[in-house]
Amino acid sequence: MPEKILLQADYFLTWDENLKLYSRAEMVIENSLITYLGPRLERPEKNFKRVINEKNSLVIPGFINTHTHAAMSLFRGYADDLALMDWLQNKIWPAEAKLKKEDIYWGTLLSIAEMIRGGTTCFADMYFHMEEAARACIESGIRASLAQGLVGMEKTKGEQGLRQSRDLVRNWHNKGEGRITIMLGPHAPYTCPPEYLQEVGELAGELSVPIHIHLAETRYEVEESCRKYGKTPVELVNETGLPAHNLLAAHCVHLSAKDIEILAAKNIAVAHNPGSNLKLGSGLAPVADLLQKEVLVSLGTDSAASNNNLDLLEEMRLATLLQKGLQEDPAVIPAEIAFKMATIDGARALFLPGETGTLKEGAKADLALLKLKQPHCYPLYSLAAHLVYSAGAGDVDLVMVDGRVLMEKGRLLTIDEEKILHEASQRAQRLTGN
Ligand SMILES: [Zn+2]
Repeated sequence: MPEKILLQADYFLTWDENLKLYSRAEMVIENSLITYLGPRLERPEKNFKRVINEKNSLVIPGFINTHTHAAMSLFRGYADDLALMDWLQNKIWPAEAKLKKEDIYWGTLLSIAEMIRGGTTCFADMYFHMEEAARACIESGIRASLAQGLVGMEKTKGEQGLRQSRDLVRNWHNKGEGRITIMLGPHAPYTCPPEYLQEVGELAGELSVPIHIHLAETRYEVEESCRKYGKTPVELVNETGLPAHNLLAAHCVHLSAKDIEILAAKNIAVAHNPGSNLKLGSGLAPVADLLQKEVLVSLGTDSAASNNNLDLLEEMRLATLLQKGLQEDPAVIPAEIAFKMATIDGARALFLPGETGTLKEGAKADLALLKLKQPHCYPLYSLAAHLVYSAGAGDVDLVMVDGRVLMEKGRLLTIDEEKILHEASQRAQRLTGN
């Protein structure tokens, strides 16, 4: 008999082509897939391995965090309220120089624990020693798109990064029953010269994997690019041919009208990181303008060193509130659009195979269940408004990826949280000398 789970909840809220709400409904999950979602039917319980029936509950697709550096959670709260270059040069880079492979594994697990607790079922990561991140993902059961961060300023280092990426694709792409996918991760146009970006593009074509890059994060980056090349970072990247491949661009804060045209015309997906952009004083991305031009915008947290948490509920709220303030228009990015950015559009931005980021028959059973019986969720007029404007990560009660329960009733089932917290504080001491 297949591993069948029956999940009954008060509400299921999801995006497909439109926002869909199912009330007093049920879902059947067989192995990793949703095989039914709709009205409750007469079904003998003995046909199921498990029946989950939660009162006062809302089930949504798991959140998709499209930009982070998971292992950097080891530096959470180590250096704050500093200018970007001061932060990087005097704090983060010296601490990163002490990172060992095992630190990446434990730091990634720390982030995974936090993400699962907040209802995130998939994330895009860019860092180094990514085989350690892959190991953490496989053990925890979460879904992830992993990229080795590539820097092309020195030829040897650049070539080494490409070789490591090739190995990463060979050893880990589609592993963990397909939950792990690999991307190429050229760090940014200011650390990867155009010729190197071209090489990255060629490799992406050869290996058939998407590309994940930082783009137009700060005003300084754009000014330097214009000074050095006479082109904005978006124009420069466009000329390297990278957009011919599936391309995910993190940040896109400082954009010209022409840049926005390029992003739209070349189907470049954007990972908007409002929390990190605010905290590092980078500025406000023109998200409402991007959406108006039908650019695909997803949501990311960036690392816990610049955020300082990995909470997609918070990013949804920031994404809509910032645009309302910026545009002086409360109708901009309604709650259901912020919800779409954090779920189905996240899956699209990661170019994931199969259906994820949505709840429907044939889609991957990646979901989060939130408990609604809490003062901040009463009374109930709009579930989307509750999710975006009222809910907190602590409301998430059950999380499933690929049909496997990773958290239930506040307990992480696949990873040892006590051990992870212990390792994280031990390793933080060694890395930062605090
Ligand atoms: Zn980043």
